[in-house]
Amino acid sequence: MSADTIKQIEFLSRALKAPRIRDAASRLADQARDAGWSHEEYLAAVLDREVAARDASGAQLRIRAAGFPSRKTLDDFIFDHQPALKRDQIIHLGGGLFLEQARNIVLLGPPGTGKTHLAIGLGIKAAHAGHRVLFGTAVEWVARLQDAHHRGRLAEEIVRLRRYGLIIVDEVGYIPFEQDAANLFFQLVSSRYEHASLILTSNLPFARWGDVFGDQVVAAAMIDRIVHHADVISLKGASYRLKDSGITTLPSARPENTAE
Ligand code: ADP
Ligand code: MG
Repeated sequence: MSADTIKQIEFLSRALKAPRIRDAASRLADQARDAGWSHEEYLAAVLDREVAARDASGAQLRIRAAGFPSRKTLDDFIFDHQPALKRDQIIHLGGGLFLEQARNIVLLGPPGTGKTHLAIGLGIKAAHAGHRVLFGTAVEWVARLQDAHHRGRLAEEIVRLRRYGLIIVDEVGYIPFEQDAANLFFQLVSSRYEHASLILTSNLPFARWGDVFGDQVVAAAMIDRIVHHADVISLKGASYRLKDSGITTLPSARPENTAE
């Protein structure tokens, strides 16, 4: 390429705010000449570099904005440790169709069985697929909604949250709510019903959610909306955190008390 052409490409890629085009143009030109690419193939390869880089930086921004407590991926998950879990089902969910269909995922099971790990892994997949994601514990979500409510901005906040393709609510059931919290949470769930996805995790079976929300009627109405279009996945077994500790049961892992 002549020096003038290279300068022109530099100028044009700056004008397009597409710096990767400038970087890729001369590098790929050599490759194109060696491999005998057509003009169209060369153009496609250059544009592909720009688009791939934009997608990747968009995904990184969405992952950072999601507020995950740690980075866990589906690839890191050891399915052999969780034989009750259908690997195919998780891989399929990772494909993200549930987000297009506004379906929900509920992960139930005793502590340490990988609920949060899977929720984050699915959230990261969603961010890569271009969806905006927000992660919080149930307690954090209620605090956020209460805050909006006190500022007289609950309706606005709920509408704003609908712009997120995925909201993850971790640890439903660890701490019981006051009744007004249950009502706020119900509003979040119903605003997303058939519109955008939720992933919820809980150590308690649905039958015990009434106690958590302090209101059996609200809990039943909420569960009804959550599970109408949902994959409900039960994790089992001993805590992964304790796997090398010699401890085999935790107090809360008694079957009558935890999600089966
Ligand atoms: P839960 O939310 O069910 O209490 P976590 O998802 O927080 O459990 O898992 C506890 C820890 O064990 C995390 O560090 C997680 O990455 C790890 N872990 C749990 N299950 C698995 C698994 N099957 N494969 C790999 N790591 C796991
Ligand atoms: Mg957890």
